[in-house]
Amino acid sequence: MKIIQMPETLANKIAAGEVVERPASVVKELVENSIDAGSTWIKIDVLEAGLEQIKITDNGEGMAEDDVERAFLRHATSKIRSESDLFHVHTLGFRGEALASIASVCRLTIKTSQGNSAGTYLSLEGGEVLERGKSDARMGTEITVSDLFYNTPARLKYMKTIHTELGHITDLLNRLALSHPEIRFEASHNGKSLFKTPGTGDLLQVIAQIYGMGVARKMLPIKVETLDFKINGYIAKPEITRASRSYISIILNGRYIKSIPITQAIIRGYHTLLPIGRSPIVVLQINMDPILVDVNVHPTKLEARFSKDKELYTLVEEQIRTTFRQTRLIPELEQKPKENHKQSFQPTLNFNEPEPIVRESHVVTNDTDKSRYNHEDTRVQYNPVKQSMASETNLQKEEVFIEKFKQTFEQQLIPKKEEVIEPENRVPPMYPIGQLHGTYILAQNENGFYMIDQHAAQERIKYEFFKKKLGQTAKEVQELLIPITFEFSKHESIFIEHYKAELENVGLFFESFGNQSFIVRSYPNWFPKGFEEEVIREMIEQIMQDERIDVESIREDAAILMSCKRSIKANHYLNHDDMFRLLEDLRKTTDPFTCPHGRPIIVHFTTYELEKMFKRVM
Ligand code: ADP
Ligand code: MG
Repeated sequence: MKIIQMPETLANKIAAGEVVERPASVVKELVENSIDAGSTWIKIDVLEAGLEQIKITDNGEGMAEDDVERAFLRHATSKIRSESDLFHVHTLGFRGEALASIASVCRLTIKTSQGNSAGTYLSLEGGEVLERGKSDARMGTEITVSDLFYNTPARLKYMKTIHTELGHITDLLNRLALSHPEIRFEASHNGKSLFKTPGTGDLLQVIAQIYGMGVARKMLPIKVETLDFKINGYIAKPEITRASRSYISIILNGRYIKSIPITQAIIRGYHTLLPIGRSPIVVLQINMDPILVDVNVHPTKLEARFSKDKELYTLVEEQIRTTFRQTRLIPELEQKPKENHKQSFQPTLNFNEPEPIVRESHVVTNDTDKSRYNHEDTRVQYNPVKQSMASETNLQKEEVFIEKFKQTFEQQLIPKKEEVIEPENRVPPMYPIGQLHGTYILAQNENGFYMIDQHAAQERIKYEFFKKKLGQTAKEVQELLIPITFEFSKHESIFIEHYKAELENVGLFFESFGNQSFIVRSYPNWFPKGFEEEVIREMIEQIMQDERIDVESIREDAAILMSCKRSIKANHYLNHDDMFRLLEDLRKTTDPFTCPHGRPIIVHFTTYELEKMFKRVM
């Protein structure tokens, strides 16, 4: 007989290869279980980026004694009973694989209680139960994972530095905390606090903890509700940006997801406000009827599929644009909070800032390292009395923490809540006082002193002018004197054939003459003259990227191109009237703060700042 059924522990170990990729995956599964158990408080303590130990403590519903062992069997779940449940999943997990897989590659202890009688204690090694016993009656669950991958040395060798693995863990915890502002998270590494969130349900408070108070102060709220979607969240003013997209968090029905199209919609929403190559800081909570969402994708993949997606993208983009239209966006010199505010609370230890907090150190994978393999050394000692005393003092500390947090938070953030202003008052009239290096206009008004980049200002004005003009032109075409021949890549030409009808709709007629070559004999009336070829190329690129034809954005690209080519350059003398007219035109634009390429136009020194600089005030 050649075929035998695999022993359960072996099957689990194989499954673990998929579910338990690295310490962060263990943290993810365990914390998600705690969330599913209805916890309002979750504590995460890791040692050596989780390779030595991961301990998750929650105050959720706990498990009954006879359920505990079953929870470690494969496909054991309390969350799905029938096929139809699959379409109404509201929990983060439902496959019943995680505990079995995790237990098979580590030493694990669990203490769990439903709060009404003594709890249950269980210890496992490589998925086999070693010990059974009783634990205290505190409602909730505590799972300790030690010596992860001790029995899969090949996997252990794949682990990167402590710094990298910890990076994955903090990244994940940040997202879990942002997805659940109603849960109090406490995370520590090697005994040092990583972050704590207050669990008040206020997303901005979580943002303050994770990205820092400075970022939180520059976030604008966003809120919109349609028949199908409810969107809530915060978007950072474009004056603070990051180099990577990982500061964009999208939470769909309480679950963190990755979505390229939603991310693109966010970026489009910021439009020309972002400097090239920079990304915004955004946290969006999107809620929709779960029936519209397909969650049955691979557990470690974070993509989601859902219906009415195009509507959602448009909604996100529009809402972000609208928010900026209503806000004063001139970056001001940082005004430090008054001493007494600043000292009262030091909330963040931020792993997302460029300065690395944990120094590079290599994970020991050497078999002679005793502590990893000696069971006794790493065993968690359990003492119920000591435990409950400790958690009581912790609770008091927590209350003080939340109280302090609220105070600091309100002191520092409340002023920004009244920041929405009428569009025409966003930039008050400015009076020119001179020109610097033929490049910058110096101006003043009752609010202080301004420096304006004249080239950028004019680009903005022209851009909005052309955009309006382009928008009004009818869908007529004009003959080209000399037809343009294009050669596209295979991929592009398939694409052009596919979208032929739509392209003709916007006034573009591609005649194929084989070999991926096309000829264009006319162009839409609204095209900027002299840039036909450039614009057509850009259009195709844009359309391929968006996978849709958006006349608006095509026109916009054309407008940017024209405004840039026709603006006054630096080193150009302007008289007083020229300057005044330019400033007035600038004030009237919809986005007076950045040029179409995202560079700032205006720098503002408030009267207060000036007085401080000259020590007229302290
Ligand atoms: P799934 O989450 O897909 O159901 P898991 O293997 O992660 O599968 O967990 C198995 C079961 O163990 C869960 O369905 C749940 O009933 C129970 N469980 C796991 N963790 C906890 C916890 N922290 N609190 C209460 N119950 C838990
Ligand atoms: Mg689970």
